[in-house]
Amino acid sequence: MHARDYSTALLKGKCPRCRQGDIFKYPVWSKLSQFNVMNEKCPHCGIRLEPEPGFYQGAMYVGYGFTVAIIILVGVVLYLLGDPSEWVYIGASIAIMLLLVPYNYRYSRIVYLHLFGGIKFDRNLSQ
Ligand SMILES: [Zn+2]
Repeated sequence: MHARDYSTALLKGKCPRCRQGDIFKYPVWSKLSQFNVMNEKCPHCGIRLEPEPGFYQGAMYVGYGFTVAIIILVGVVLYLLGDPSEWVYIGASIAIMLLLVPYNYRYSRIVYLHLFGGIKFDRNLSQ
């Protein structure tokens, strides 16, 4: 098996070092009540997935960026669909944000770990 590229590892929520092991324990919709449960260590290479205590507090900023991007996207789409009343904008934004909470939570942590976790890709571990 060849090594995953960086963007595929990000999209699939894989460990930044081996790009094989899952960062989260369960697929997002299989156990919805446990969408936030992470593996303590990578199941493939064994590296700790929380580099230091409180590491993921910084992922809030990534999640905030995702939230703003989604609200802007919803606003643009609704505007192009006929510019409804402001309550439709607010209701649609809230509904879509609630539906995307598991993805926002996960991808903010995944992106944060890949960008700021200080973990380098090791091709030898990617087999
Ligand atoms: Zn790994």
